[in-house]
Amino acid sequence: MTVSSLAGTYERLGVAPLVNACGIYTDLGGSVLSPSIRAALEEVSTTYCSMTELLDQTGQRVAELCDAPAARIVPGASAGIALATAACMTHGRPELVEQLPATTGMPGVVVQQRVHRYKYTRCARLAGATIREVGDETGTSTAQMADALDDDVAAILHPAHLDGRDGSLRLEEVVGVAAEGHVPVITDAAYLSYPVERIPTFMRSGADSVCFSAKYFHGPNAGGFVLGREDVMDALKQVDFTRYESGDVRRFGRAYKMDRTTVVATLLALEEWLTMDHAARWADYEQRVDRMSRALADAEGVEASGCQFTLDERLIPEPVNALRLRLGERAPGVSASLALGRPSIVAVDDFAGELILCVETIDPSDDELVIGRLRDALRDTSAT
Ligand SMILES: *Cc1c(COP(=O)(O)O)cnc(C)c1O
Repeated sequence: MTVSSLAGTYERLGVAPLVNACGIYTDLGGSVLSPSIRAALEEVSTTYCSMTELLDQTGQRVAELCDAPAARIVPGASAGIALATAACMTHGRPELVEQLPATTGMPGVVVQQRVHRYKYTRCARLAGATIREVGDETGTSTAQMADALDDDVAAILHPAHLDGRDGSLRLEEVVGVAAEGHVPVITDAAYLSYPVERIPTFMRSGADSVCFSAKYFHGPNAGGFVLGREDVMDALKQVDFTRYESGDVRRFGRAYKMDRTTVVATLLALEEWLTMDHAARWADYEQRVDRMSRALADAEGVEASGCQFTLDERLIPEPVNALRLRLGERAPGVSASLALGRPSIVAVDDFAGELILCVETIDPSDDELVIGRLRDALRDTSAT
């Protein structure tokens, strides 16, 4: 929906709708659901169902789609890490599940390689685990990993996007050492759902559970799923929010509750993602970026081109999803002009002298608005 056609609810709430030219960010709302998913949610949002049945059935469907032994929809990859950790610490035993985050009487340590320290490590601690780092800034050896795996260890956390970084042990190597110590490996593959062929590879490499975030496959901002070995996922089912009131166990996962629309939207978005013509999706981005570049061709002192702004925030040549403007000293002024106008257009200004506008999250019907505002901003900044 074009931003200018939205005047109702946000306005009443004192919230300014914005044009997101940054890409998929939780702080900017994640993704936009497709029209067919929004239509399906109309039915789901007005009709009750058993949440246990919904999670069991959708989990089974996710497992089939991703060629995994079992799966569960969860409220995001962060929650997935917390719940998978809880599953590995308790094995789903009711008295232990109730006791969390106190870890007395169960293995309460999650092992992670020092070079894998990252933003979401703390999600494992939410279940009560403490983190044991192995190796140092220069990497980890298999001997160090093997030494770290004593009886207190519940799981190893392996962020898949950091696989192979700086002398670290790769997933396959970690799995080898972990198997000897009978320790499950929890993998964070939050944004590794593209290319889609990649989704099943982590389980095939020997991971025991793998967490994905739905925001990256155009699903709900608070959706995600965990793939896993049958027994790990059985335990995860015992710790999530279901049956907190109707069952006998006060489950750890109650605070990780989901609405039925989130569960359904996560599954439908995954189905669409797996069958989507991704070549056409990229071709469309490139075409739109080309059009924007051409529309700015006559602006003085500006070099406009296409590039890709990656999910780990790097710029690479292709396939293209973003307009790259080399602006030199004018970059902060143009960025501010876009951001302070109405509607606000938020672009990526983390690269010195440049402004990046990722079109993945710009509604195509807002392209003209963006071009017009860019032309205005360029004219204004060149005059000063
Ligand atoms: C976004 C992200 C997460 C968290 O996913 P949510 O679904 O937002 O909870 C975890 N790990 C990585 C690498 C991410 O990019």
